[in-house]
Amino acid sequence: MTDHDLPVIAHWIDGAESAPTGGRTAPVYNPATGAVQAHVALAGEADIQAAIASASRGFAEWSGSSIAKRQSVLFAFRELLNARKGELAEILTAEHGKVLSDAMGEIARGQEVVELATGFPHLIKGAYSENASSGVDVYSLKQPLGVVGIISPFNFPAMVPMWFFPIALAAGNAVVLKPSEKDPSASLWLARLWKEAGLPAGAFTVLQGDKVAVDGLLEAPEVQSISFVGSTPIAQYIYETASKNGKRVQALGGAKNHMLVLPDADLDLVADSAVNAGFGAAGERCMAISVVLAVEPVADELIAKVTERITKLRIGNGADADEPDMGPLISGAHREKVASYVDIAEADGATIVVDGRGFSVDGHEEGFFFGPTLLDEVPTTSRAYTEEIFGPVLSVVRVNTYEEGLALINGGEFGNGTAIFTNDGGAARRFQHEVQVGMIGINVPIPVPVAYHSFGGWKKSLFGDAKAYGVHGFDFFTREKAVTSRWLDPATHGGINLGFPQNS
Ligand code: NAD
Repeated sequence: MTDHDLPVIAHWIDGAESAPTGGRTAPVYNPATGAVQAHVALAGEADIQAAIASASRGFAEWSGSSIAKRQSVLFAFRELLNARKGELAEILTAEHGKVLSDAMGEIARGQEVVELATGFPHLIKGAYSENASSGVDVYSLKQPLGVVGIISPFNFPAMVPMWFFPIALAAGNAVVLKPSEKDPSASLWLARLWKEAGLPAGAFTVLQGDKVAVDGLLEAPEVQSISFVGSTPIAQYIYETASKNGKRVQALGGAKNHMLVLPDADLDLVADSAVNAGFGAAGERCMAISVVLAVEPVADELIAKVTERITKLRIGNGADADEPDMGPLISGAHREKVASYVDIAEADGATIVVDGRGFSVDGHEEGFFFGPTLLDEVPTTSRAYTEEIFGPVLSVVRVNTYEEGLALINGGEFGNGTAIFTNDGGAARRFQHEVQVGMIGINVPIPVPVAYHSFGGWKKSLFGDAKAYGVHGFDFFTREKAVTSRWLDPATHGGINLGFPQNS
């Protein structure tokens, strides 16, 4: 098969696949084999305008439909997703590389938000105060924003869009999703599912592309809000540009998540958790643990336990029937970047306990595999410590006290997630109060909040005030109108009063 015979992954506009205009495309790889398996359209101006025009029409229809109708579409989507999620998991594994059970886990966490959104009438019903002043009632309405943009990263092609679109649609908005160009097919599968569930054409649109598509959404006056998830520099750019253009914006960025291990912790639990959270999805998770802060004297024993577990990990093609523990990285370029951080750590004086550089899988020599890597005594001045690596590289930093560990966490520029492992409830309670991080695990390594709480970090891990999903999600995707109303009682007389309104 030549490159020309490969499928082109299209946009989804007006309730159907839309042939791209402009001719720009990007390759989509199978990371386990290293082969190009498709090309994805990269939107040009005409695609962007068509997508936004269709979404505007979709908004007019969808926002006018009753709450009962919207709820029935959400329930239908939930049932279809639940019945057919295996198909979606296969798409995720083929384009992202994560193993199938992990892909199913990603979908399950997205489905939680769909399930939360089915209960939306209670969360958007506003409030009513009768007789706030004599004969005057005051009430608030929650209305949709209009066309809302979602821009998602490569590492969760299904879950991250699902953090936003179920709630956005429940509230009556029309969604334009710009997925990552690295694994774009999940978005089309989800769009087809919405159509089958009865969502009107235009209420869910997919615009494939790169910076051109993103900038198109940021500039379009019809787009009322932007929900972005990705790396910190782009999150900051999105936040600043969208704000400047008068849009509501939430922009979730990168992370460097630490696990603080106190000497009283159960070290087997810690080692299991560190390996799960450090190497699951090959470390390509914004909630991955990338640094273990071991409060001495536990470091040697912990490193021995983690090393023993790492050597048993099976790495391979996530689609194999005999499922491995860990798949490849997303691209060859990303593998080079991850390797460069291990080089930096080594040059800066870290000890390489387990080296994943140069790793390959038999029969998949062209795949983007990187072996699990364990570093000890990583200097906290090294870029390998301060920057996000986003690969299967776990660094150990030895500290002498809780305070020393806490100061390192609070001194970092990110504040996405963190975890403490201890059997001391008082220490854990102190940690949750003192740590400057948005999501905290206590003996839990990847503390992704359930759908009815909200997801989001602090500092450079989240730009904007609104976290994803939960109550924050409903607030973000609605705007409130306050109505003050008086119906004259025929028995009373209003008269003229030029004073400022006061309650009586
Ligand atoms: P990325 O920032 O490269 O891309 C994210 C999105 O932005 C993609 O849709 C991409 O097409 C677009 N984009 C890329 N460059 C752009 C530019 N110059 N201008 C405008 N748009 C641009 O991120 P990624 O590599 O796809 O994802 C990995 C990153 O996402 C990691 O940093 C990870 O920590 C972060 N992430 C954060 C969270 C969170 O909740 N905080 C969740 C998942 C991933």
